[in-house]
Amino acid sequence: MILPKGTRLTPEQVAEVTAIVGEFGCSIQPIIGAVRTIYAIVGDERDELMINRLEGLPYVDRIDRIQSPFKLMDRRSDLSSHRIRIGGVTLGEDLLVIAGQCTIDPKNPGYYLETAAAVKEAGAHVLRGGVWKPRTNPYAFQGDAKSIETLMEASRRTGLPVNTEVMDEQQLELALGAGVQMIQVGARNALNYSLLRAIGRAVAKGDTIVLLKRSLHMGTLNEFISAAEYIVSFGNPNVILCPRGTAPALDGYRNHPDESITPLLKEKTWAPVVVDPSHSVGKASFVPACALAAVTYGADGLCIEAHVSPSHGIGDDPKQALTPSVLADTITQAKQIWALRRSVAGGV
Ligand code: PEP
Ligand code: MN
Repeated sequence: MILPKGTRLTPEQVAEVTAIVGEFGCSIQPIIGAVRTIYAIVGDERDELMINRLEGLPYVDRIDRIQSPFKLMDRRSDLSSHRIRIGGVTLGEDLLVIAGQCTIDPKNPGYYLETAAAVKEAGAHVLRGGVWKPRTNPYAFQGDAKSIETLMEASRRTGLPVNTEVMDEQQLELALGAGVQMIQVGARNALNYSLLRAIGRAVAKGDTIVLLKRSLHMGTLNEFISAAEYIVSFGNPNVILCPRGTAPALDGYRNHPDESITPLLKEKTWAPVVVDPSHSVGKASFVPACALAAVTYGADGLCIEAHVSPSHGIGDDPKQALTPSVLADTITQAKQIWALRRSVAGGV
């Protein structure tokens, strides 16, 4: 829908607009109001280039889209009945818990194996473990490829699937080759379209799941869903949206907690939402409250950093990781909220 700056377009402007939309197989239908005339775009109005060209016209105030920009991720798309299953959980039917260390310490792999057993005991369905780490400071520890063996050993011992972040194609190949079931796209890479493309292509034929974090730089929710759409467009619909706090940080927290966007995401897309409270608030003592708030807001799952001995951890673990007993309590309470939420009328 084209909304002009003035009360209506001049005949020359109508001709210009008609020519532009015509290039994209669309036409214009004026809707004449008492005060203002607006112009419906008849046809498939999803082409970004067409919208950009119309928005660039000096006499156009704005374009309101009637159609969803997402062909695949829209909640009315054919994919909306798709269900993602991992770790014995069908997303949307039971609360999914992903838990484990931020980072596997290659010098102390034993901690990871202990943590893996403990988070399983606490009720986690998927193990998380950072093999390669995106860091704010380039001199900080960036990970070690040999930790992939520790990750897979933990998977074998616990019988749980694993999640790890990849930042380039080489890491992606190593992770998929090792049998990682869930590939994480971190907040710093969620808008890195060449990585999203590489992941989309690599997982196109299989049933690997992609956990897509929300980038600090994703202004709109559409940008977040579009990134998911891009991965899914290669053929594998197993993409989970993961809000993890955004910038600017709320004074005292690591980021600005954004678990409240879940209902807004769900209004637009069928994609499951798994919230990461650890990076959102950034401090272990605040994580349980954020996790429970996330479930209250409709999250389908949680991704929580945990460590058997946080003070011996590396990466974010000394600050953010829950001990297994706090994790167990948080999961118990989260499940109670999940059940309560589902029991109220219209609960989702
Ligand atoms: C992480 O999961 O450890 C991590 C680095 O997350 P994010 O990309 O959300 O910062
Ligand atoms: Mn972390």
